[in-house]
Amino acid sequence: MRAVVVEGPGQITVTTVPDPTPGPNDVVVAVDACGLCGTDLHLVDGEIPVVNYPITPGHELAGRVVAVGGEVTRLAEGDLVAVDPSLPCGECRYCRKGKGNLCEPWQAIGISSPGGAAEYVQVQAKKCYPLPAGTPATAAALIEPLSCAVHGLDKVPHDLTDDVLIYGAGTMGLLLAQLLKRAGVNTLSVVDRRQDRLDVAGSMGVSAVATDAAELDRDGWDLVVDATGVVAAIEDGLGRVRKAGTFLQFGVADAKASANFSPFKVYNEEITIVGSMAVHNSFDRARDLLVSGAVDSDALITNTAGLNDYASALEEFRTGAGLKTQVLPSA
Ligand SMILES: [Zn+2]
Ligand SMILES: [Zn+2]
Repeated sequence: MRAVVVEGPGQITVTTVPDPTPGPNDVVVAVDACGLCGTDLHLVDGEIPVVNYPITPGHELAGRVVAVGGEVTRLAEGDLVAVDPSLPCGECRYCRKGKGNLCEPWQAIGISSPGGAAEYVQVQAKKCYPLPAGTPATAAALIEPLSCAVHGLDKVPHDLTDDVLIYGAGTMGLLLAQLLKRAGVNTLSVVDRRQDRLDVAGSMGVSAVATDAAELDRDGWDLVVDATGVVAAIEDGLGRVRKAGTFLQFGVADAKASANFSPFKVYNEEITIVGSMAVHNSFDRARDLLVSGAVDSDALITNTAGLNDYASALEEFRTGAGLKTQVLPSA
């Protein structure tokens, strides 16, 4: 089969590798769509310590089951599935505490084992989530990032009367916005430096958009979400949380970055600061939300490419062009 192989940092090839075969509890999925995200950039740049090079990247994938292991009864050839890429060990301190997303050593399909930027991928059957026939594979490949957003909102209180501010109108910010709008909050505002992204947020029916939160701020917000990972946005957002409010750090900042905040404000105003990392018991609920139309996938998937164009698609994604980029290996 054809597969993208990252031989080492900065070395992307598209080459022919042996077809995968399923173990007894596995299936082989023909990948129809595989999203790119910031994690893939970090992988290609050599910034993820747990990567086993050479590696086929791709952890946001959906496709059709084409081979089924002997012990698998729940899936059949032809099933359309989305794949939960996380591979918690089940034995470490964090897995035993029910925090598999924080597993040590953390591993995932497309990070430590071959991923979806290939014609086929071998996965454990239990990591596959079936979808109704006719679900577009491109939409199904949004379930992984959507499940990260579901987990993020699991971790923070939000209710009908809350005013909510999101920094960042990229794919993650817009997924979070659509979920919060669906959940029902008093107002939902989105800040991004880019007007084209704010236009998409506006089309999704949020209350207000701006390139700078100062344009919108009256007396702060009950929930502020960072979906940028940018220190300037994080510091600005931490300063705009209302008394008794919550700040959600969802965006992935540089591992070496630090941000300033006022410990006095956190104390005096009883502010809660929460982190959210990847997928945690949220993949099935994200699947259900996607199937019921919670997400405008057409608005989010702006760029698609064939497998041979993986490297150029990734570099275009790096420039911030569009929103979600997907490779379509079967196309
Ligand atoms: Zn990702
Ligand atoms: Zn573990």
